[in-house]
Amino acid sequence: MTRSLGGAELAASIRNDASVAADALSEIGIRPTLAVVLATDDESTAWYVRSIASAAKRTGILCDIVDLGPSATTEQIHTTLVELGHDPDVHGIILQTPLPEGTDLDALREAINPAKDIDGANPVSLGRLVARLPAFAPATAQAVIALLDHHGIDLHGKTAAVVGRSTVVGSPAAHLLVQRNATVTVCHRHTADLVAATRDAEILVVAVGIPGLIRAEHVAEGAVVIDVGTTATDDGQLLGDVDFAAVDGRAGALTPVPGGVGPVTTALLLNHTVDAAATQYAQTRSDALLTGSRSGG
Ligand code: NAP
Repeated sequence: MTRSLGGAELAASIRNDASVAADALSEIGIRPTLAVVLATDDESTAWYVRSIASAAKRTGILCDIVDLGPSATTEQIHTTLVELGHDPDVHGIILQTPLPEGTDLDALREAINPAKDIDGANPVSLGRLVARLPAFAPATAQAVIALLDHHGIDLHGKTAAVVGRSTVVGSPAAHLLVQRNATVTVCHRHTADLVAATRDAEILVVAVGIPGLIRAEHVAEGAVVIDVGTTATDDGQLLGDVDFAAVDGRAGALTPVPGGVGPVTTALLLNHTVDAAATQYAQTRSDALLTGSRSGG
């Protein structure tokens, strides 16, 4: 029997913590604020951003959706990100993908102020994560580990396979698993034999975006399978990368899609925003004290 690793309970608990911290900040005049920069007319992306905004509102976080439209240029998006990076009233920034064709995503990620990079998109954040320095981890990668922890799955000494190596999901998830003392194989488009690379893993994390890619032969009997994939269909369904029916009964535990990694990711984005607001407030106070002591005040 395969256990379902749902994310709703964990997400509610993370949102509750964020809400308590947001209230405490509000009492000292700080309203945690998240800016989401959007440049697409893709309806499923717009729906996702609206769902973040409504979760933020319920948590006591202001969410400013900066919609630059589907024909925004790299320069326009860059300018917006730099302005938000300097705005003292904005504490967290998300650059929502997809962006218009031809825009330079790498350059834009670098334009996100690392102190406000609550989804770990700037390469500085990823570098610090790999170097085990304080940084915001990409929320989805962190959600994978948080879900495993929440469901009491020990990672120490386990074999893990991660399918997908993007800088926002697969690679950071692999690094976080290594940091938790798992032994990790990373798979991608050029992996010659995906079945051989995954079929012995005790933990299997899949972040590709191809519905049904992972079938029974990819999964060890009793393995824990985390399905990060989300592909929206024309009829409004959300499909994971794992062929659920084929793997159900073989895996020991499996995340549902939707309702697994997704809600935890959103909750962590809110939690990171509140953390960023608290850190920026503490930094401003410490800068003011230093300035005061230097000027003899
Ligand atoms: P991405 O940037 O497109 O990366 C996909 C990765 O999959 C790449 O590393 C690619 O390999 C690899 N890949 C493609 N075809 C493969 C194959 N046949 N076999 C093995 N590996 C293959 O996507 P992403 O941003 O990481 O997102 C991955 C999925 O997670 C998507 O469905 C996305 O919607 C979903 N997602 C969910 C959440 C959530 O909160 N639940 C958040 C973010 C993303 P190469 O590097 O060789 O090209």
